[in-house]
Amino acid sequence: MQIGCHVSVSKGLEKAAQTAHELGANTFQVFTKNPRGLKPKKIDLVDAKKGVQFCKEHGISLVCHTPYITNLSTPKDDLQEATIRSILEDLQIAEAYGAIGAVVHCGKHVGEGEEYGIKRMIETLDLILEQYDGPTKLLLENTAGQGSELGLDPETLMNIRNSTKYPEKIGFCFDTCHAFAAGQWDDETFDDFIKRAEETRYLDHLLAIHFNDSKAPFNSRKDRHEKIGQGYIGTDALQKFLQCEKLNHLPFILETPVQKEIEYAEEIELLRNLSNKRDK
Ligand SMILES: [Zn+2]
Ligand SMILES: [Zn+2]
Repeated sequence: MQIGCHVSVSKGLEKAAQTAHELGANTFQVFTKNPRGLKPKKIDLVDAKKGVQFCKEHGISLVCHTPYITNLSTPKDDLQEATIRSILEDLQIAEAYGAIGAVVHCGKHVGEGEEYGIKRMIETLDLILEQYDGPTKLLLENTAGQGSELGLDPETLMNIRNSTKYPEKIGFCFDTCHAFAAGQWDDETFDDFIKRAEETRYLDHLLAIHFNDSKAPFNSRKDRHEKIGQGYIGTDALQKFLQCEKLNHLPFILETPVQKEIEYAEEIELLRNLSNKRDK
């Protein structure tokens, strides 16, 4: 199975890939640039090449995450323009890094209402994707539904994808913590959720999993990640995920809170054990 975690790319992609490998990961995630800003990043193509080569040699896959402050649904023209520019650049960086895709959070309607927010998000996605023809997919991530966040459920996410002019350029990244906090699944409703994901064909376009426990309760609409087995989702439910045959070909990436990256080594090992044990 592809199991890994988010790692820092501040010392370059090659170093990030080496770190992932040292942690026992065979998949990982990096930010395309400073997650709190939109400042263009000068990418070191020599380093990117070395990183891609290292990943190839070690059988490591990778996903990129775009900054948080973009908003695909923003009603403000200047922020929409900045969002388009930034995400286009993120797609190019992700492509240079050989990533499966660039993860972006769904939009926030910021008081304009859900209908407006979704319409605006589709419009922004079209403006981005008409300018990008590379192999890297834009991966829409489901949200916890905090504040005015859109895109909590497979039905809405598929509707957004199918309403754009370029659905083939869009995939999904599923965050277990967000979906739990959005009331989409828990231990008891796991099977139902998978059924919905299949029926809507969301599952066909799912390319990555953000694997996190939740510090906030079911349906709390709060995005608070927790270490695996230490939160409200719990080990049993998360184990169902790891062992689900419809999901276990996907990269599982931890975004759980750590002081130091080295802590992920233990958690990756825990995931490998949980994915192996067939009975509880
Ligand atoms: Zn996530
Ligand atoms: Zn989150």
